[in-house]
Amino acid sequence: MDSFDKLLPHLQSPIRYLGHELNAARKDPHKAELTFALAFPDVYEVGISHLGIQILYHLLNSLEGVACDRAYAPWTDLAAKLRERGMPLASHEWRRPLRDFDVLGFTIPQELCYSNILAMLDLAGIPLLAKDRRLGRWPLILGGGPCAGNPEPLAEFFDAFLFGEGEEAVVEICAAVRAWKGSGADRNDLWNRLAEIRGVYIPEFFEPEYNSDGTIARLRPLRPGSEKVQRRIVADLAAAFFPRKPLLPLAEAIHDRMVVEIARGCTRGCRFCHAGIVYRPYRERPAGQILELARAGLQATGYEECSLLSLSAGDYSGIENLLVRLIREHLDQRVAVSLPSLRVQSLKPGLMKAIQKVRKTGFTIAPEAATERLRRVINKPFTDAELLDTAAQVFAHGWKTIKLYFMVGLPTETEADVEGIADLVQRMDAVGGRFGHPQINLSLSAFVPKPHTPFQWEPQVETDRLERIQAEFRRRFRRGRIRLKWQDPRLSRLEGILSRGDRRLSRLLLRARELGLGFEGWSEEFDPQGWEQALADAGVNPDFYAARPRREAEVFPWDHLDPGVSRQFLLRERGRAFTETLTEDCRLTGCREPCGVCDLKVIEPRLSPPLDLPAEVPPAPVSLAQPDARFRYRLRYSRRGPARFLGQLEIARMLVRAVRRAGLPMRYSQGFHPLPRLVFGPAPPVGVESEAEYLELELSSRMSAEEAGRRLGRVLPEGVLVLEAMEIPLQSPAISSMINLFEYRIEAPEGQGPGWFTREALTALAGRDTFPILQKREKGERTVDLKDRVKGLEITPEGALRLLLRAGSGAGVKPAEVVQHVFGRSEEEVKELKVVRLAAEFKESRAVRFPGQAVRQRKR
Ligand code: SF4
Repeated sequence: MDSFDKLLPHLQSPIRYLGHELNAARKDPHKAELTFALAFPDVYEVGISHLGIQILYHLLNSLEGVACDRAYAPWTDLAAKLRERGMPLASHEWRRPLRDFDVLGFTIPQELCYSNILAMLDLAGIPLLAKDRRLGRWPLILGGGPCAGNPEPLAEFFDAFLFGEGEEAVVEICAAVRAWKGSGADRNDLWNRLAEIRGVYIPEFFEPEYNSDGTIARLRPLRPGSEKVQRRIVADLAAAFFPRKPLLPLAEAIHDRMVVEIARGCTRGCRFCHAGIVYRPYRERPAGQILELARAGLQATGYEECSLLSLSAGDYSGIENLLVRLIREHLDQRVAVSLPSLRVQSLKPGLMKAIQKVRKTGFTIAPEAATERLRRVINKPFTDAELLDTAAQVFAHGWKTIKLYFMVGLPTETEADVEGIADLVQRMDAVGGRFGHPQINLSLSAFVPKPHTPFQWEPQVETDRLERIQAEFRRRFRRGRIRLKWQDPRLSRLEGILSRGDRRLSRLLLRARELGLGFEGWSEEFDPQGWEQALADAGVNPDFYAARPRREAEVFPWDHLDPGVSRQFLLRERGRAFTETLTEDCRLTGCREPCGVCDLKVIEPRLSPPLDLPAEVPPAPVSLAQPDARFRYRLRYSRRGPARFLGQLEIARMLVRAVRRAGLPMRYSQGFHPLPRLVFGPAPPVGVESEAEYLELELSSRMSAEEAGRRLGRVLPEGVLVLEAMEIPLQSPAISSMINLFEYRIEAPEGQGPGWFTREALTALAGRDTFPILQKREKGERTVDLKDRVKGLEITPEGALRLLLRAGSGAGVKPAEVVQHVFGRSEEEVKELKVVRLAAEFKESRAVRFPGQAVRQRKR
């Protein structure tokens, strides 16, 4: 057990740090010429859901001589333990210190994770400021992702940023770093090599000069020939790398599904939207390739849902036909197909009908503004009637929850626009009344002006006004069916400061690091007082960045970063906003008023020809006929090593997906949410290894028990082995009701002698009639009598404990709790015990074994 392993039992969620995902590359860093760590400045569950990281991870590992691992922000408990023990932050799979990599590439998804980037560098033992890394062998600190459009607040901490899309540029960056590594030249030489790559921005090569009023006079280029950095654009998505075997996490990701990117870019032209500018032009992935990627990804993961990702999925050419083809192809496996983003007008009846075939999770609509006037200002035009009609269709097609996104504080907003949100939501609720009152979740966010958008000149609305509106909405929707969600206005202001910030904000971020601030995206961690102090200590006037309207000719901190869309276009769009004039999508009109991003030779909008539609739409899963044949199997499996940290839910999810990957003919439940017919035996507590875990599954065709076990065993993750399998009668009682007791072996924490378990304690236990202990659980406290639960406890000749714990109804007791109370040990001490569940005693057989057929498998 290495020193990191020893920390795991003490953490709130050890499963975040296990690595060992299915489909991980498992390259050997020692054999690579270049090691690359992709870092994500938020916790694992968020980072593993990020498609960009998945793409780059697999792409980098496909390169000869390059080995890539990942790193995620450690939660506060792990960060504290690492500091306490002087351990550097290490990568996810190899546990190699981040400072030992050649390249440490951060994806920067949003401004509220800037403090986490500094915290990660600090924990890794890497000097925060790029100037302090000039000498010595430090990794190249590279940034990319949405915030690379204005990375100036981070400029002093990074060596380089990649502005734009990474699939091609990252390969060129690797080649440049490899060539430099072998040259023996200094870091300046590396920056020069990188600056030659389109899309790469080296902050050291630009120097901001300021006016007396604090605004920027100019960004002086220090390297000849690099006045502007052009955004990197992948011309053709069909030719761009996309992983066929995505990583499958053991922990539950925030987006726990297979994702295929169907299109990039959006030319609808919403005037507040950063992505709508910096992902132009609109490019679709060919429909045939999407089907192929979904097929490969679902086979490699066993996911039960496939999400079609783009900024506005309903706009994809022939989306209905694509959905029907996807649904039909994966109907047997009950794979749901979902679209995360839909515009009101894209919700045509045919699309609704297609989506209706799959599981109905919440349906999301983002009107952003509640009055038709304000929707003309932001260039998101549709009528109230269209919106209400869409809601009626959504409800009529069976959705029980609708999520609505609105923004507050948009330019030109009046009280009538704010009042209009409440009014529109109430009208929608009234529509819902005709369909059994579905749930309406209303999300109000504050408008934050973003760089490279037509609204980049606008002031951000003051926190006081946002707080007043928030209080009013809270009062209005306190009771009733409508649920309100709102971000803390102080957090929106911080986002506003950072999003249009300049290099002087590095002082703020450094001070925030000194104050230990971080995880602002997590409401329980956001510390508004701490940030007020950081702002004051760093001498930063928040209004200068957030609340100040900009002059039309003002030089922005990001003016040397060219997104391809011209300033002239942005200004024209801004002017049109104030005259409530609409701009049409160039997909529909052709390039009548060029925004500047296309050369219309290589870089241009690319659409995919629609697929042929099958003769008829397939039936919904609820009416899917299943064969009458039913066969039931029981399997015993073991969990060793990192798999011991999986909880009951994670084990269930992992096994369901493994059964899919194994291609076993599962039977499903009926209803809207068809679930595989799997039953699990009682799981041991998290952290306990086991040789006696049970699973029962129902198949629709017969095979030998050994064959079923072997097929499943082949696709299980590391540390999980099928040991035995048997076919059981359909009427056989559920496994959990058949087990009398479990036998455990418990070893003292590493480094403790055999005398850790004392015979006096056992004698004391034997001499008592009752042994009540107080258990603290999430739902509260309860008292349990150990004498009722413990059937036997003895010290083995080797000095370990043999414990027989009763199973079945009533309050459960964990082996660690027995040791804690019987031997008078602390809660922290017993976390380090090595506990293995060895066997189960069945009620009928009275034998401490499972009466199945052994399944022979290769140990992994
Ligand atoms: S240059 Fe023309 S075609 Fe290309 S995204 Fe801009 S408006 Fe559309």
